[in-house]
Amino acid sequence: MSTQVLEPSGLVVVTGAGGFIGGHLVGELRKRGHPAIRAVDCKPLGEWYQVFDDVENCVLDLRERHACDAAARGARYVFNLAADMGGMGFIELHKAECMITVLINTHMLMASRDAGVERYFYSSSACVYAAEKQTSAEVQPLRESDAYPAMPEDGYGWEKLFSERMCRHFSEDFGITTRVARYHNVYGPHGTYDGGREKAPAAVCRKVIQAQRSGSGDIEIWGDGEQTRSFTYIDDCLEGTLRLMTSDVAEPLNVGSDQLVSINQLVDIVEAIAGVTLKRRYKLDAPKGVRGRNSDNTLVKARLGWAPSIRLEDGMRQTYEWISEQMTRAARARTFA
Ligand code: NAD
Repeated sequence: MSTQVLEPSGLVVVTGAGGFIGGHLVGELRKRGHPAIRAVDCKPLGEWYQVFDDVENCVLDLRERHACDAAARGARYVFNLAADMGGMGFIELHKAECMITVLINTHMLMASRDAGVERYFYSSSACVYAAEKQTSAEVQPLRESDAYPAMPEDGYGWEKLFSERMCRHFSEDFGITTRVARYHNVYGPHGTYDGGREKAPAAVCRKVIQAQRSGSGDIEIWGDGEQTRSFTYIDDCLEGTLRLMTSDVAEPLNVGSDQLVSINQLVDIVEAIAGVTLKRRYKLDAPKGVRGRNSDNTLVKARLGWAPSIRLEDGMRQTYEWISEQMTRAARARTFA
């Protein structure tokens, strides 16, 4: 990782810190020497993926304005990662819940403006891109300008696009510096791998491990497996986030790998890590999302002099090993319960 740092003085707030990316971000900020960090999430502390005892941990529901005031108080930098979201299985069936997240970003921006926050980061998504640009598995990688004319992913994508614009207008009208990353499918250890909110990389790891341990020998795949995506390892996501936050780039930037794979190829990778070959059952009526999506990294390279580079094969090995360990622990706990 680079040595890119925010000014070390001043309080850094990370919202969504009990979640996957937020938890890693708090860990990375600690590693980079930030002395004052406030981690905020609405989940009880016992449910956070990572808890660090040497930071200020707060349980707050950030849909409420007064909670955002408490979260932003005294802050110099805010990373807003809190969102009610999940993988395709969640966002296709919970559009209203996804859109209610607009309250979090709206109230966090208002609270940050009133608290005199210097820089504000917003975690947007590749789901803002127009659907008509993602109808083929042989995708044209998405450039930042492809978000308009707007026709994002229903529910979740509209909320993200609206919140991006709100950041821009808070910047123009109230002078708070905002930075916006469009994350493309971030994966890695310490994230959701079951329960309905998990995304494809974690779900595939879990299913392969389950097939191996149960001896079923088969795996269910959503769709025909030929839909394509790129997947971004968490270390690349953190590097992009911190580089963007410290940059002078006011417009949204892709933070995403451009290593395009089909879901079938993702399964091949996990099978190779696990040392198995499974029979594939295709569930054609399952939520599938767009047909193909990849990140065009021309602009991020030009503006940040950097782009994600961690190979999917390497990131998936780390992810697989962590999920396997968690599943072993959970099975042991059930045995001794
Ligand atoms: P996550 O679900 O693991 O973390 C989000 C956290 O926000 C959760 O811990 C949740 O409890 C918290 N939260 C939800 N509602 C809240 C509320 N009202 N008040 C306080 N906290 C609340 O998700 P993640 O993968 O870590 O994603 C972080 C951010 O990045 C989100 O904004 C997400 O939309 C965005 N993003 C993620 C991906 C990805 O692939 N993981 C891709 C694109 C964008």
